[in-house]
Amino acid sequence: MAKKEFKAESKRLLEMMINSIYSQREVFLRELISNASDAIDKIYYKALTDENLSFDNDSYYIKVSADKENRTLTIKDTGIGMTKEELENNLGIIAKSGSLAFKNENEVKDGHDIIGQFGVGFYAAFMVADVVTVISKALGSDEAYKWESQGADGYTIEPYEKTSVGTEIILKIKENTEDDQYDEFLEEYRLKTIIKKYSDFIRYPIKMDVTGQ
Ligand code: ADP
Ligand code: MG
Repeated sequence: MAKKEFKAESKRLLEMMINSIYSQREVFLRELISNASDAIDKIYYKALTDENLSFDNDSYYIKVSADKENRTLTIKDTGIGMTKEELENNLGIIAKSGSLAFKNENEVKDGHDIIGQFGVGFYAAFMVADVVTVISKALGSDEAYKWESQGADGYTIEPYEKTSVGTEIILKIKENTEDDQYDEFLEEYRLKTIIKKYSDFIRYPIKMDVTGQ
């Protein structure tokens, strides 16, 4: 399957992040949880005006699952999901995220300032993952899709089986190196600490499940 290239701006931001912003890489989880929460908000607000749709509190949640054996960290939500077009448009370009525009306007020289103060968005996942897989089914759609990328060189997209509406983001967590530790992002205690630090205000339940040694 042909790989599609990211738009130029995405490439630049992705490379900048992956190469220079290591000290706070734990914020990837804040970004993915905030996207999950935004996606549930969208269903919530839709249900307020759409009488065919009801918002049942118990059905809406975010789930963070770590699988140590397979080195995967999955962030699942029961939010509004993405169509094929939305996967391409929203994950293929950095349109709304604003971090890059801010950098250009303000000539911020140190990447740490940006990441500290502004959302870096979905791409933050590549700070900790070699491969990012997004499986999503949009509300009102019969089809689901799998989007996958190994970073700056592009992504693939293909049909996938998923029965429930929502999104799963699966991160293949990087191997530890001499200088950089990634195993911590598969540890329940560490994940809980990060969630408490950055995502305490999220108004939907955040469930957790860790398997493996
Ligand atoms: P921002 O959240 O600032 O818009 P992101 O890079 O974090 O930027 O996300 C880009 C877009 O991708 C979001 O605006 C949203 O449309 C889409 N998106 C990302 N994660 C999800 C998700 N879990 N469910 C539905 N849409 C998502
Ligand atoms: Mg976001």
